[in-house]
Amino acid sequence: MLTRSEIRGCLTARGQAQEELFAEARRLREEHFGPTVVLRGVIEITNVCRVNCDYCPMRRDNTSENDRYFMTSDDIVARARAIRDAGIDIILVQGGETPRNLSAVEEAMPRIRELFDGRVEILLNLGNMRRGQYERLRELGGTSYILKHETSDPRLHEALRHESLEERLRCMRDLLDLGYRVGTGLISSLPGQSLDSIVDDIELAASLGVHMCSVSPFVPAPNTPLQLAPIGSNELALNALAALRVHLPSLLIPSVSALEKTSQGGQSRGLAAGANVMTVNFTGEADLNRYLIYGKDRYVVRKQHVQELVAQAGMRTRGSVFLDAPAATDALKYAS
Ligand code: SF4
Repeated sequence: MLTRSEIRGCLTARGQAQEELFAEARRLREEHFGPTVVLRGVIEITNVCRVNCDYCPMRRDNTSENDRYFMTSDDIVARARAIRDAGIDIILVQGGETPRNLSAVEEAMPRIRELFDGRVEILLNLGNMRRGQYERLRELGGTSYILKHETSDPRLHEALRHESLEERLRCMRDLLDLGYRVGTGLISSLPGQSLDSIVDDIELAASLGVHMCSVSPFVPAPNTPLQLAPIGSNELALNALAALRVHLPSLLIPSVSALEKTSQGGQSRGLAAGANVMTVNFTGEADLNRYLIYGKDRYVVRKQHVQELVAQAGMRTRGSVFLDAPAATDALKYAS
């Protein structure tokens, strides 16, 4: 593990020092996972959200002007079937934070498990909930859960998300306690964020004991209070990603679409910096342009593009690392 000042040094590395950092990140990824990239298929089930994040076009204040949609359980299962047919065994069910279509997810989960004869990772990304709700989703077959902390600075968190960091962390601890494999994530280059705050983000992932962590550069999206803020630095995001890999080598770390959105070739560089997960979009054409995560001209990741990137990186795709791990606590040893 790195010291605090070593993590800070990683964040500012450029030129030769950055190349050496990325090479070390790739070496550690290879040591822990082999030359493999985990593929996920995502279904974005609703664009309605009760939260009002200042950086997100799906924020609560935009609800009335957005073209709202909620997938039914049949829609979700149909998209899951398409993911299965594409040879992917991780179903990422993602959406704005709303209780309104939780019942559709609950109905869909046993049907998804049936589609895969039980050999499926159901990865949920549906926001803060009460412990009892997480418990119910776990009983229905939820394997893993993404709940990004976004920023570990409590004041910045409150200022940009209008939510309490403490409650977010309570949710993460509940999820871990219930046996989920948990993913967190940070946004780098947020307005008002310091470099030390990103060091805190990386140390938080370590102290929580999560299994996955993402780094997304800030994207100033239209129709949000931060639309005129400067776009995030890809170099900083990639360095934070590589620092995560070196600090916590057995983490699953995605190369996220925001890297491509902020710089062409960004996802390929994410793999070069030590990432080992990619997500393919299966939302379906009708809803894709309504899920406004970075605005209407979002970057949508297709399977063929992912396969090309993975091959260029000299790697190969693989399925879930969690299905054969007997318990959540044993989930961090996956040399392939
Ligand atoms: Fe809701 Fe997520 Fe957008 Fe925040 S970032 S408003 S929680 S969908």
